[in-house]
Amino acid sequence: MSQEPAPTGFSTRAIHAGQEPDPRTGSVIVPIYQTSTYAQDGVGGTREGDYEYSRTANPTRTALEEALAALENARHALAFGSGMAASDAVLRTALRPGDHLVLGNDVYGGTFRLIDKVLTGWGVTYSVAHLSDVDAVRAAMRPETKLIWCESPTNPLLGISDITTLAEIAHEGGAKLVVDNTFATPYLQTPLDLGADVVVHSTTKYLGGHSDVVGGAVVTGDDELRDQLFFLRNSAGAVPGAFDAWLTLRGLKTLSVRMERHCDNAERIAAMLQSHPKVSRVYYPGLSEHPGHDVAAKQMRRFGGMVSFDHADGEQAALDAAAGTRLFVLAESLGGVESLIEHPGRMTHASVAGSLLQVPAELVRLSVGIEDAEDLVDDLRQALG
Ligand SMILES: *Cc1c(COP(=O)(O)O)cnc(C)c1O
Repeated sequence: MSQEPAPTGFSTRAIHAGQEPDPRTGSVIVPIYQTSTYAQDGVGGTREGDYEYSRTANPTRTALEEALAALENARHALAFGSGMAASDAVLRTALRPGDHLVLGNDVYGGTFRLIDKVLTGWGVTYSVAHLSDVDAVRAAMRPETKLIWCESPTNPLLGISDITTLAEIAHEGGAKLVVDNTFATPYLQTPLDLGADVVVHSTTKYLGGHSDVVGGAVVTGDDELRDQLFFLRNSAGAVPGAFDAWLTLRGLKTLSVRMERHCDNAERIAAMLQSHPKVSRVYYPGLSEHPGHDVAAKQMRRFGGMVSFDHADGEQAALDAAAGTRLFVLAESLGGVESLIEHPGRMTHASVAGSLLQVPAELVRLSVGIEDAEDLVDDLRQALG
């Protein structure tokens, strides 16, 4: 194709952006460029495409990056070897010793660990705030605050923050707003359109979508930040391999249909749990009684595939329920086609025990897959007893 295609809808972009048929062979699918290096035209001169060495750039990775940028309505996306590598690159690009960041009270445990255990040793300070509480966020801002780090919905409590308001607070204070959009995906929410400066993803989750690859991405419209991130990634080397980029690109193509089904099934399960006698609380932003429901309805297309709940009989009962399902697999991670169940207090969020980010002991988290909803509902009913 010599002409730029002009796809506009999300599903069309997911399938076509950055993914024109291979100009040399006509291959409809972007090839896995399993190569580390590229022949040069002369000493110091690259051939068309500008590829030199695959730490710097690789065509399969480029295709993934173009697709990701198109889905987030952004100019730039950079793929990383994991979600944490993507987050690390943003933190080390945007922060210098002496800088401060404001962090949501239930960010991903690994993000908290990276900031609390690694970044602080590097002279960065942080404050934890309830990002749904605007006054608390304003109070946490300092002259040296350079970032607000937000997840919406959060993991594992499905808290919702108003991204537009957080962006305003950040910008008033000369800071940038980063949104970890892993839970929502660009199909449900595009934070850059709401005023955020940077989006990070664990593409391991919904974007890859099949629990078969680990990866991450940073998306931004800021040219200078993109160049700094590119420089750091090339210097530090946290890149995904070509096959991992290809698997993620393959997953992206079906993101919209998968997300619709994840949302359908999660709504069914949230409704069932709400009326279940062994469940004392359901965390799902699609429920009208969820404190963030109105904000979620304003900034999201639908409410996602993650549902958490408190077991009415406490921690041991929650552990038993998590171990008692037949279809839901007891496992960490999320966002794959198969349903997963876990106990955040003992599993994904064990590292935040005793901190401000500690989660309820009776909490169970579900990553609702795209199986038949009736089978999932039946499985949870039998596990709850
Ligand atoms: C999994 C996850 C991460 C970390 O991503 P990895 O790919 O596991 O490194 C970051 N943020 C959120 C919200 C996640 O769920």
